[in-house]
Amino acid sequence: MSDNWIILIPEDPRLVPSGDRNDRAIALLKSLAPQSEKVETAVSDLIRFVDAGENFQRINCPSCNSQIDNEWWQEQMSDDFVDGGFLLKLRDTPCCKATATLHELRYDWAQGFAKFSLEAMNPNIGELPESGVRDLESVLGCPLRLIYCHL
Ligand SMILES: [Zn+2]
Repeated sequence: MSDNWIILIPEDPRLVPSGDRNDRAIALLKSLAPQSEKVETAVSDLIRFVDAGENFQRINCPSCNSQIDNEWWQEQMSDDFVDGGFLLKLRDTPCCKATATLHELRYDWAQGFAKFSLEAMNPNIGELPESGVRDLESVLGCPLRLIYCHL
């Protein structure tokens, strides 16, 4: 038995939309994925890692697009995690010394860091249409990163 999630997080990891926007976003995602087992938002005080589960395959540099070594990434993840949350400090990528936070690395499939997430469990719709993402962005008032998590 495996589970799938459609998760949307703000491109700004520190951003938490207002409660009114949250409620409207939950209602909209429910209408886009009516068969979901549950649709909810999660808000944390600290920045957490929102991962793609088994969909995660590789990481590339946002500047030169070289593939980033998993071991380097794990070290940076440990270093960045302090007192229960991620700091998202600027780091030099190992390939070309470009400056980026862990949130700005190119993850395939997409992953990211957030205090806020909007999640649909087992949505059973395949992909969320681009128009749906745009509508959720206008409801939440910010650009969103779309994550497909498979566990
Ligand atoms: Zn690079």
